[in-house]
Amino acid sequence: MSRATPRVPRAPDAAGYFGPYGGRYVPETLMAPLAELEAAYAAARRDPGYGRELDDLLPNYVGRPTPLTEAPRLSAAVGARVLLKREDLCHTGAHKINNALGQALLARRMGKRRLIAETGAGQHGVATATVAALLGLECTIYMGAVDMERQALNVFRMQYLGATVTPVTAGQQTLKEAISEAMRDWVTNVGHTYYVLGSALGAHPYPMLVRDFQSVIGREARRQCRQLTGRLPSALVACVGGGSNAIGLFHPFRNDPDVRFIGVEAGGRGIAGGQHAARFAGGRLGVLQGTKTYVLQDAQGQIRLTHSVSAGLDYAAVGPEHAWLRDLGRAEYAHVTDRQAVRALRRLAELEGLLAALESAHAIAYLFQPARPWKKNDLLLVNLSGRGDKDVAQLAAWEAALSC
Ligand SMILES: *Cc1c(COP(=O)(O)O)cnc(C)c1O
Repeated sequence: MSRATPRVPRAPDAAGYFGPYGGRYVPETLMAPLAELEAAYAAARRDPGYGRELDDLLPNYVGRPTPLTEAPRLSAAVGARVLLKREDLCHTGAHKINNALGQALLARRMGKRRLIAETGAGQHGVATATVAALLGLECTIYMGAVDMERQALNVFRMQYLGATVTPVTAGQQTLKEAISEAMRDWVTNVGHTYYVLGSALGAHPYPMLVRDFQSVIGREARRQCRQLTGRLPSALVACVGGGSNAIGLFHPFRNDPDVRFIGVEAGGRGIAGGQHAARFAGGRLGVLQGTKTYVLQDAQGQIRLTHSVSAGLDYAAVGPEHAWLRDLGRAEYAHVTDRQAVRALRRLAELEGLLAALESAHAIAYLFQPARPWKKNDLLLVNLSGRGDKDVAQLAAWEAALSC
C-alpha cells in the first residue's frame, strides 16, 4: 500500500487555519473568551506542572495506555493483518475522556469553577460530567430534547455524576442546537465557566486543542505497533464524526509518508437519498458553528438534516484539519452505510469477542468492503474508538425490525 505521500506542514497557523479551513467564525462576544483560552493553553503547555497532572491521571484514572490488540480471526476474514487500538477500554468507554480530562485540567488552571458541554449521544457529556466530579467542578450539559429521549441511560449517568442536564428544544432538538445553546451559556457566564468542546471542531483553538489531547492515541499506537510487529502500519483506519479519534490517531504519524490515513464517515441510508452524514461525499465548503470546513448544506446554504444509525457520527460538519489533509492528498475518506456498520459490529463480536460502539463499527465495516485495496502482508491499524454497551438497546431494535 505504499506510495509517495506529501509532507504535512505545521498547523494550524497563527489565525487557526489548516490551509483554507478552520479559523474563528464567531460573534464578536466570543472573540475575547477564545483568545483567553488560546493564551491559557499556550501557557499550560509550557508548564511542566500541567503536563505532570495529565501524565498522572491518564494512566491512573483513564487507564492508559490502552492495548493494541492482534485480531487474528478478523485478520483471516479480511485478508490482511489487523491490529485494534483499544480506546473502548478507556474509563467511561470511549476516547472522549482523553480530551475532556485535558480540557478540565486546563479549566481548573484558568480558575474556572464550572464546566459546560454539549452532547449528542451523551458520550462526551458523560466524559465531561465524570471529570467535573473528579476535579470538584460544577457541570451543566446541553442536550437536544430528542437526543435525551433516545439516550436516556446516558442522561441518567450524567445526572448521577452530579451534572445538570439541560434539554434544548430549538430546531431539530439534537446536537447542533445543543452546541448553539452551550455557546450562549459560555458568552453569558465566561467569567467562571469553561466550555469543553467534544470533537475536533468549532472555532480556533478548539480543533487544535482537541487534536493535541487525542494525539495520545496515535503516540501510543505508533510505539506499540513497532514493539509488536517491528514496523509501522500500512494504513490507519478510524471513523470520522467531528474527527477527534481519527485525528488523534493520525497526527503522530504525519511524518511517516508510507502510512496511509483512512477516515470512514457515516453513509447512513445511502448517499443518493441524502440521508447520511458523509460530508466529503455530499458536502461543500461552508461555515458551521465557528469553523470553515466541509458542510452538508442545500443550495441556499441551509444546513441539511443528517442521518446515521450512530449518533456520534451524525453531524453536518467535519473537523477542518480533515478537510485540509484530504486536499493535501495525505488522508482519504470513505463511507459505509448503517447496514454495513451493524453487520460489521456483529462480525467483530463473533470473530473477536469485542462489542464495539456503532461509531467504531464504521471503521471495521471498511475492512469488509468488497474491493479490498490491500495485500495479505499489509498491516491495518484500526481505532476501536468505543465500546458498544450504550448501543445494545438500539441493536436489539434493529435485529427485531429485521426479523419481522
Ligand atoms: C463521539 C464518538 C465518535 C465520533 O467522534 P469523533 O470526534 O469523530 O471521534 C466515535 N466513536 C465513539 C465511540 C464516540 O463516542
